[in-house]
Amino acid sequence: MRIKAKKSLGQNFLIDREVLEQIVSTADIANKEILEIGPGSGNLTSYILKKNPQKVFVIEKDDELALVLKEKFTTQIEIINDDVLKIAEDKISDQKLVVFGNLPYNISTEMLSKWIVNIGKIFWFESLVLMFQKEVADRIIAVSNSSKYGRLSILTSWKLNVKKIIDIKPQSFSPRPKVDSSLLLFTPRENSFELKSAKNLEMITRVFFSQRRKMLKKPFNQIFTNAKAVAEKFNIDLNLRPQNLEPEMYFKLTKEYEDLGS
Ligand code: SAM
Repeated sequence: MRIKAKKSLGQNFLIDREVLEQIVSTADIANKEILEIGPGSGNLTSYILKKNPQKVFVIEKDDELALVLKEKFTTQIEIINDDVLKIAEDKISDQKLVVFGNLPYNISTEMLSKWIVNIGKIFWFESLVLMFQKEVADRIIAVSNSSKYGRLSILTSWKLNVKKIIDIKPQSFSPRPKVDSSLLLFTPRENSFELKSAKNLEMITRVFFSQRRKMLKKPFNQIFTNAKAVAEKFNIDLNLRPQNLEPEMYFKLTKEYEDLGS
């Protein structure tokens, strides 16, 4: 059956066998429970199944494609025909999942942020193998003192270790997207910094990085009633810029904000 790609759902199907093989070789699959997000017509799903998983769940929003998948894989996979942003990701299985996802680029970022914010004490996944627009992937893996460093890298490094696996060219997809993609591997970060609420970290990094060229003085004064004392406590030079502070310092500042109830 010929499948017409829907632009509105960001449907660019992977057709490059080498890339498909590389994706499924990024994480251990044998005897594991797998969750695939946005399986489309099942190109990556077939490669996953070849690696002998214990069980495969897929979440696909498109009703038509959900039917195609049902016909193609019958009882080999469990299909959740829904929007990944509406699913309680930690309720899918009792086991820790290995997750694969090649989603529309805007959804990938929203999904990753939602998952990080929702992570409780126990991680519901073992690893995440996710595709992003290369430019977004570069922002996720950026380190301090670089121009791409910001909210996304800080939020990610709070809970996750991240590694770039490969860059993927538009020719590997049909239809071809306009931009390059990158595949990232995320694993849980042990002993992540304890905060009362992820929302506070999101707020603090939003205030700092919405004025990334300004000196730290300005966001500090916006966030803390006694900005000077907080800066002194953490030995921070307020003439520096937001990109000069390590992620760890943003976690500490968030905790200080929570403790002070500022
Ligand atoms: N994984 C397939 C492949 O590589 O060939 C398809 C990738 S395609 C870029 C993205 C897939 O995600 C499409 O099948 C699309 O229908 C699905 N999708 C889009 N938005 C979604 C959402 N919010 N929740 C679940 N699936 C979604």
